[in-house]
Amino acid sequence: MSWWWLLILGLFFLPTLMRLFTGPVAGAVTYNQLREEIGRDNVTAVTISGNRVEGTFDSPVTLPTDDERQVQQFVVHVPPIGESDIVETLRERNIPIYTEPPTEETSPFMVILNLLPFALMIWIGYRFYKMMQQRGQGMFGVGKSKAKLYDKSSAVETKLDDVAGLESAKEEVAELVDFLRHPKKYASVGARTPKGVLLVGPPGTGKTLLARAVAGEAEAPFYSISGSDFMEMFVGVGASRVRDLFKDAKKSSPSLIFVDELDSIGRRRGAGLGGGHDEREQTLNQLLSELDGFEPQEDVIVLAATNRPDILDPALLRPGRFDRQVTTNLPSLKDRVAILEIHARERPLSDEVDLEEVARGTPGFSGADLENLLNEGSLLAARAGKSEITMEHVSEARDKVTLGLERKGLGVKDEERQRIACHESGHAIVASVLPHADPLLKVTIVPRGPAMGVTQQLPEEDRHLYSQPYLRDRLAVMLAGRAAEDLLYGDFTNGAENDIREATKLARRMVQSWGMSERLGPFGAAPERQNVFLGEELSQQRDYSEATAREIDQEIMDVLSTAQKRARETLEERRDQLEELSQRLLDAEEVSAEEVNEILGARSGA
Ligand code: ADP
Ligand code: MG
Ligand code: ZN
Repeated sequence: MSWWWLLILGLFFLPTLMRLFTGPVAGAVTYNQLREEIGRDNVTAVTISGNRVEGTFDSPVTLPTDDERQVQQFVVHVPPIGESDIVETLRERNIPIYTEPPTEETSPFMVILNLLPFALMIWIGYRFYKMMQQRGQGMFGVGKSKAKLYDKSSAVETKLDDVAGLESAKEEVAELVDFLRHPKKYASVGARTPKGVLLVGPPGTGKTLLARAVAGEAEAPFYSISGSDFMEMFVGVGASRVRDLFKDAKKSSPSLIFVDELDSIGRRRGAGLGGGHDEREQTLNQLLSELDGFEPQEDVIVLAATNRPDILDPALLRPGRFDRQVTTNLPSLKDRVAILEIHARERPLSDEVDLEEVARGTPGFSGADLENLLNEGSLLAARAGKSEITMEHVSEARDKVTLGLERKGLGVKDEERQRIACHESGHAIVASVLPHADPLLKVTIVPRGPAMGVTQQLPEEDRHLYSQPYLRDRLAVMLAGRAAEDLLYGDFTNGAENDIREATKLARRMVQSWGMSERLGPFGAAPERQNVFLGEELSQQRDYSEATAREIDQEIMDVLSTAQKRARETLEERRDQLEELSQRLLDAEEVSAEEVNEILGARSGA
């Protein structure tokens, strides 16, 4: 940019420079000298324009200031006071006088030259202003909404067919689409359309995808913005952006506004530690008043998404604001198959890949996880130089996604490997033997992510309810690794840290939340809210006595030690099989469920 400034500077001084060069080129002849030369008859002819006298000498004249130089041409300005007789003198001497109008200062060329710098300044200022406007920031642009506008001209590819499962959510959203297309149909039967629809669900379950599908289907302007886009360093900017966004949307109604990650502005007010967050509260207040402020004829629907409905300000959920909530849940087995099918469309899957089997092996995966799984599979296939994704790639990808990367070259010592093999064999055997436990998938002692070895189980179907026998068996499986170490080595390592933590958490919920303890019965001792976030419930209130607290702890310990005992007894009966499986694991590093059952079946049948 700096050369711009040079240019401007140059143009600024151009007139001055020009004057320098068009000035007395003939040399600095003084006025007295001119009079003298006229007196000596040394002047051929003069041209007068204004008070400027220009002409030639008969013979060259030496300059008074510089006696080396001689000049023949001269330019002299007649002094304005008391010297008007020069013309008289010239006439007396019969020197020809030419006259010209005093045009020099007002020549159009000079006028333009003088105005040019100003024009340039204005032009550059205008360019700057434009640039700031385009970026939507800078001095004039901060308060402008940063929402992206999708309308008929911007082709959004996503359609409702690209969203698998989520039937009820899709239904709800389809109604919005219909409303945006035919607002009159609804108005004629007196239906008040919803102002706000809130999509609620765990991350990666397709909330943003659903909104994008609405944009793709509805033939109405669609303003999309993320909650965090409202926030800026300056107080008041967020509120102004909300105002601006709604103004735009109302102008082009019927239209739709989508606010993603609503929780980043919609957080409960007055919940911050050390005073509220002024900027966020102002933004939220503005949003609330905009939601309230629609006139009946302004058909603007607000769609919002969040995965933290628990921290939203209750005012947002009041009727007339986000009065409808649509939940996107983690996909069921059937939905997982459908999601996998959608994302398998654009990937070359080998025929042997059974998506149903993949879906069965991925309980608890969200849509985003499933997409990621297939993507990892593609990467693995590409890395291996294959043109098709095989089942092997998919299950490798699954291990990578669920368990983390394989840790190569960790340098595990032999004794350590033996311990790990024993520990994992314990988990695997108890999981295979106990009737209510999730079936075993495989067991491995390949270190992956944070774990040194893993026993993987697979639920046969998605569970919505957990029965007490299931939970008891699950606890026993969790503690079986530790029990196996105790049985074969007579002591413990720190390898069971995670098992113990998870088991304790589960036992606590059984006792405190699910009434699964005989002594306490259906006594609800669970904390009101599990999500602790800053500023709220830092000190959780306890609604029971010290004595009950002690009893709760006692019950939890009982549940845990019972589970531990069951695991130990199960393994004691199968000590040989435990040793055999450990050895198999040391040799093969990975043992499938069938092999484990073989080991168990062979011995128990004998
Ligand atoms: P979030 O609920 O966190 O907004 P997204 O909508 O961003 O989740 O989902 C991320 C990605 O996961 C989507 O782009 C899509 O590829 C995939 N996905 C999630 N849910 C589904 C679904 N129901 N059907 C198809 N793909 C899905
Ligand atoms: Mg999202
Ligand atoms: Zn373990």
